Amino acid sequence: MIVDLSDVLVSEGMQKALEVPLEMTGFENGTERFNVTSKLPISFVFSNVGKGKAEILGRTRLSFGAVCDRCLREVLLDMELEFRRKVVLPGTEDEEADDLGFMKECRLDTEAFMHNEILVNWPAKILCREDCKGLCPKCGQDLNLGSCGCDRFVPDPRMAVIQDIFNGNKEV
Ligand SMILES: [Zn+2]
Ligand SMILES: [Zn+2]
Repeated sequence: MIVDLSDVLVSEGMQKALEVPLEMTGFENGTERFNVTSKLPISFVFSNVGKGKAEILGRTRLSFGAVCDRCLREVLLDMELEFRRKVVLPGTEDEEADDLGFMKECRLDTEAFMHNEILVNWPAKILCREDCKGLCPKCGQDLNLGSCGCDRFVPDPRMAVIQDIFNGNKEV
């Protein structure tokens, strides 16, 4: 949705609250696409904070269908977002202004805005649970369901050096 912020940007002391539906049905984080499985409207408060300057405060909640990075089980990625951004009239100098491509002149593109908020909050790792044991690299067994009995011992190369010394390997 496009929200015209020109009145807030030019009217000193003006504040405007607005609920905006989130239209996106999916999110691309640059490598993958995730479906939005539930979402709330975005609650915005736009406040004038000076000549030609406005603050965007807001919050929303949404979730995505994803898979655990370790065991590939399907998980729901819940995201609770709260944000505060500053925008300015074109030509207004302000070092704190967020110019992230969601403003066109005085109009706010709420979808582009939310895409950015989701992106900066996207987790580095998606796990079904903190201590997910993942899959066995040898046989693919889900190790959360039990051990598979494969020998997964990977010697630490530094330990190998020490072992060589113990074994009297003169080439170390
Ligand atoms: Zn997992
Ligand atoms: Zn295995």
